[in-house]
Amino acid sequence: MSPDRSPIQRRACVPVRIGHLSVGGDAPIVIQSMTNTDTVDVEATVRQTLALARAGSELVRLTVNNEEAARAVPRIREALDAQGCAVPLVGDFHFNGHRLLNDHPACAEALAKYRINPGNVGRGEKKDAQYASMIETACRYDRPVRIGVNWGSLDQELLARMMDENNRAATPQEPQQLMYEAMVESAVSSADRAVALGLPKDHIILSCKMSGVQDLIAVYRMLGARCDYALHLGLTEAGMGSKGIVASTAALAVLLQEGIGDTIRVSLTPAPGEARTREVEVAQEILQSMGLRSFTPMVTACPGCGRTTSDTFQHLAQDIQAYLRERMPEWRGTYPGVEQMQVAVMGCVVNGPGESKHANIGISLPGNGERPAAPVFVDGEKVATLKGDGIAEQFKRMVDEYIERHYRAR
Ligand code: SF4
Repeated sequence: MSPDRSPIQRRACVPVRIGHLSVGGDAPIVIQSMTNTDTVDVEATVRQTLALARAGSELVRLTVNNEEAARAVPRIREALDAQGCAVPLVGDFHFNGHRLLNDHPACAEALAKYRINPGNVGRGEKKDAQYASMIETACRYDRPVRIGVNWGSLDQELLARMMDENNRAATPQEPQQLMYEAMVESAVSSADRAVALGLPKDHIILSCKMSGVQDLIAVYRMLGARCDYALHLGLTEAGMGSKGIVASTAALAVLLQEGIGDTIRVSLTPAPGEARTREVEVAQEILQSMGLRSFTPMVTACPGCGRTTSDTFQHLAQDIQAYLRERMPEWRGTYPGVEQMQVAVMGCVVNGPGESKHANIGISLPGNGERPAAPVFVDGEKVATLKGDGIAEQFKRMVDEYIERHYRAR
């Protein structure tokens, strides 16, 4: 993990331990994700959790929605441990979490954190008792909880009470502002109640997820100012493809720049057949682009234009980025600091040599009408000119040699 290179002043909060991880305080911003397999299907869930962890997810959340799922959780933990994967598992509970945690101690023990949605713990008189039961389990197993409010399942009794009070107020708030207030109130009052029930403050993380970018920014600014609990940040139901990526990035970047957010999740809807790990890559790219953390060497590539003679340059840029990402899990232990390496793949002589000189290693492919040769620059100096069909392979070998020379642990 690279040191924080950013001048951003993080919001002060109480740090939380989750298994071997720290969230909040001076800890780097943690990336998490969630499986979309049926938790009862142990084999599929283990496979996906391993893929998410290998991609860089530092926490993985699983749905625990029924007895079978609760019984599967310890088996999933054992299988991950047997394969050397220590990623902490978070159980996502709604409606029946109090009963599942109570009736399945092995599940409660296998999970490193419990996610509780205060809008989904029960109705009427049962609500307080069921919430208290989950907090008591967290106290008994010394586990942290995320109190995760979601605007799609906001505590309706709380909202109705706040609306009544608002209607009686001399200067009532706008409905949207009242909704923000209700989200924050649900999170903070639930956290304070957990503390009153005996759960230490350093066992509590809060979230208030919304699906609108401006809504999320407004709510997290309020939440950040109202408390010093660690915050989980994410735009819920961000959507598919570029829409989901852009909306998540727009919302998270503003808040992260203001120092708000200690752990993040990017909630993308995968296209059919698309890997679940995409959300982890996007989360990493957000943090790395902002200079908050480094995960994998970044490729700088020009967009291409009428000067590029073919799609060779697009293929090479894509090939190199995929190659660096694929090798990273293995390089991480052998080549400390390699995640900060910059690689440039440029399309012609206009900006190619200049951009390549700024990278650790860069290549400038021949543009329209240029001599069919690709100069390679290492640490600002031209060291070779590649020609012929095997430019991509030759350049990859040069990248490997650069990494071996500059990053091998001594
Ligand atoms: S570097 Fe060359 S090919 Fe790439 S966008 Fe600029 S002018 Fe076009």
